Amino acid sequence: MMEPVLTIVVPCYNEEAALPETIIQLQQLLEELIQERLVSKLSKLLFVDDGSKDGTWELIYKEGLRNGYVRGLKLARNVGHQNALLAGLHAAGERSDCVVSIDADLQDNIQVIREFILKFRAGCEIVYGVRQGRATDTFFKRSTAQGFYKIMKILGVNLVYNHADFRLMSKRALQELERFKEVNLFLRGIVPLLGFQSDVVYYDRLERQAGETKYPIKKMLAFAFDGITSFSVSPIRFVLFIGFVSFFMSLAFGGYFLTLKFLGNTETGWTSLITSIWLIGGLQLIAIGLIGEYVGKIYKEAKQRPKYIVDIDAFNLSVPRHHLF
Ligand code: UDP
Ligand code: MG
Repeated sequence: MMEPVLTIVVPCYNEEAALPETIIQLQQLLEELIQERLVSKLSKLLFVDDGSKDGTWELIYKEGLRNGYVRGLKLARNVGHQNALLAGLHAAGERSDCVVSIDADLQDNIQVIREFILKFRAGCEIVYGVRQGRATDTFFKRSTAQGFYKIMKILGVNLVYNHADFRLMSKRALQELERFKEVNLFLRGIVPLLGFQSDVVYYDRLERQAGETKYPIKKMLAFAFDGITSFSVSPIRFVLFIGFVSFFMSLAFGGYFLTLKFLGNTETGWTSLITSIWLIGGLQLIAIGLIGEYVGKIYKEAKQRPKYIVDIDAFNLSVPRHHLF
């Protein structure tokens, strides 16, 4: 088999402090992989500048001028990690056999990329990097992350536990990914939906090497909420459920309070007041929930997700032979 062309995609937002070391280390790794004939000489590092406000782009650009391995992509404005990554995957996918995505801060053990490549060469379309422990995370980050995975599990979303966006994807997997047209693409939830042959590689996550986190609590929570709401209409269904509960409570309470009234144990006006509060509240929630159900349907349609993904088309010879047999 010819050595596959690898592109390592690195989204960067205000990373001038971390980048120089990251470039050195990734380049060294790439040279080793080329030496070992695991990847092609045409392999590259692609740095995506996500509208940084510091000297990140200048750094990437200058490096690209004198370093044959380095390529740069500058986004017009800050679009966030997920979208920056998508831009990089899109650009890289066209000219690579496989693409590895990794953060700019060297928190993920880059040596693991070698194992990614070996698994890819053995036929995997997707390889997930999975953190073994969360020792370098704060207690807060650890517990919120666990809560997030629990919620997603309850909602029936298939996530790879403790996997962030450190993964390898083949050209085929990337092509299929392009068919997910939704605006709010939550990669960690979508990639497992592709369903190709995949595997995981475990590693220990390190401390950020330089600079500071670009994911403050606010962004982290927004990210989690986006993840949940782009996979499920359960929250809105819950509103509908509460509405029915409140409605039936009003009926039950109504009967009970009326009995009390006829026994002469209540203030004047209280019975009708309390019953109507529960009744109206219940009806309103049911109405909102119902509207929500329809909005949810529209929402699902609007995403236009592909309905299936082909793995092997035995009559289509454009699929590489090693994937067929
Ligand atoms: N990042 C980005 N755009 C943003 C925020 C972050 O491209 O708006 C990049 C950032 O440069 C880094 C990666 O996404 O390469 C992950 O960010 P970070 O390491 O700060 O997140 P953490 O590891 O703290 O969750
Ligand atoms: Mg980080």
